[in-house]
Amino acid sequence: MLEVKNLVKTFGDVRAVDNISFSTGQGEIFGMLGSNGAGKTTTMKIFACLLRPTGGTALVNNLDVTKSPLEVKRIIGYLPEMPSLFEKLTGKEFMAMMGTLRGMENESLERRVDQYTKVLEFDDFLDLEIGTYSKGMRQRIAFAASVLHEPPILILDEPTSGLDPRYAKIVKGWIKDYAASGKTVLMSTHVTEIADDLCHQVAVIHKGKIVGMDAPENLKKELGVANLEDVFVTLVEGRT
Ligand code: ATP
Repeated sequence: MLEVKNLVKTFGDVRAVDNISFSTGQGEIFGMLGSNGAGKTTTMKIFACLLRPTGGTALVNNLDVTKSPLEVKRIIGYLPEMPSLFEKLTGKEFMAMMGTLRGMENESLERRVDQYTKVLEFDDFLDLEIGTYSKGMRQRIAFAASVLHEPPILILDEPTSGLDPRYAKIVKGWIKDYAASGKTVLMSTHVTEIADDLCHQVAVIHKGKIVGMDAPENLKKELGVANLEDVFVTLVEGRT
């Protein structure tokens, strides 16, 4: 379960997150759809215990991120918007390092690395240094490293960024199955079709505020438009 109540984060004069509240439960995919600079990454960083809120609360399975950061970090997987990887490690070494940091046993670590190597097709580059990878290869390895320990809560900042349509489809299918197995997923995307296809609930965020939140079908019905792109444009246009 993920929940924010009246969450505020300021950076100097900038109100990056301006009093937002939402919650999402087991088996759900919650999508944050927003303009550039809307506060999506900031909200996710608060859940990942990388930033402290200025006001309000953020709970992960009822644990307050400011009071129990170690416990929270143990139960989440976090894919950052721009993952920093170790350029001199191979993909296999990087995943082994991440799994070890997560306290995984060798046997299950190897099994999961094999599993993700098959699903995301790493065979050709798993033993090459990450510094030689293309954007999409880096994203696939970063994605696998963030989910390797199969956490109950996943926080994915633009999970399909840089992926070609085929890998984007594989990752989308994986996220759907993961949530269907009872896990909680919070994700951000700029791609309205992805939010429409995957998310049970979507929050449209603009300048730090939630300007619309509901199931994609309900948002479309309420606004009388055919797709989520028009929901987004209708809700955001004209707001200063
Ligand atoms: P995008 O879709 O462009 O990735 P976003 O919704 O993820 O945007 P954030 O990265 O959360 O947006 O940024 C929200 C606001 O907070 C922006 O105005 C940004 O400039 C500001 N901001 C974010 N991090 C910092 C920081 N460390 N110091 C100062 N300002 C920051």
